[in-house]
Amino acid sequence: MISRFLLLLAIVSFSYGDKLTDIKATDMIHIGVKYDFKPFGFFDKRGRLVGFDIDLARFIASKLGVTPSFKQVTSSSRIPRLLSEDIDIIVASMTHKISRDKEIDFSISYFFDGQSILVRQDEVGTTAKEFANRKVGAIKGSTAGPNFKKLVPESRMVYFSEYPQALRALKRGNIEAITTDFTWCNVQANDSNETLKVVGGLLSYEPYGIGVPQNESKLRDAINFALIELVKEGVYAELYEKWFGKKPKRFPTIWPK
Ligand code: GLU
Repeated sequence: MISRFLLLLAIVSFSYGDKLTDIKATDMIHIGVKYDFKPFGFFDKRGRLVGFDIDLARFIASKLGVTPSFKQVTSSSRIPRLLSEDIDIIVASMTHKISRDKEIDFSISYFFDGQSILVRQDEVGTTAKEFANRKVGAIKGSTAGPNFKKLVPESRMVYFSEYPQALRALKRGNIEAITTDFTWCNVQANDSNETLKVVGGLLSYEPYGIGVPQNESKLRDAINFALIELVKEGVYAELYEKWFGKKPKRFPTIWPK
């Protein structure tokens, strides 16, 4: 009888334990990352998963003292997969929006971007308004589609599940533009042999945050403290230069001791 009671107690306390304790107990953290969003999460020429988000996620895992296990997420799958506990955190170019806060929690912001427009080199339009009544590609679940539609209500949005599909459509001439964060657009333009370019300036504010489950304050604190360490140890600036080729103008907030 007593042993049954102890077993029940063990099960109950395990399932009601906080997420950080669970992660430490299993020695592993399951991290949702992008596989197709260069330079945040992508495969290099040798087939290794690399990028700013990947390095950041590795740093956080090492500060927590656990092994990272990376799982691919897309812009539309990342929040549902966190909610279903298939992943423990999201490090996937995700903008911290107040509307997203209804479902999940966020770390402090770790990267600051804004939305732009990627077009073919021969495009004459230079502003968002010039894409009225034209086909503009966006990725399902990203902030960019709804933002753009609000800005240019006459635009004809075409939604794709993943970024490579949208890029192929743009190159083939099936759509006139892709709208998403500037940094991704800029990398595509640089990698395109001068066949693509970025226009439109910055159309929105996109501060990236790490997604954590709701009401897991210990886990969120541990991630925030790891991000603060990242800045204090100089690793943030190092990684920034490694992946973006320049020094950061803005750093994540550091809280005093
Ligand atoms: N940062 C934007 C977002 O969270 C666009 C990039 C992405 O699709 O992940 O929606």
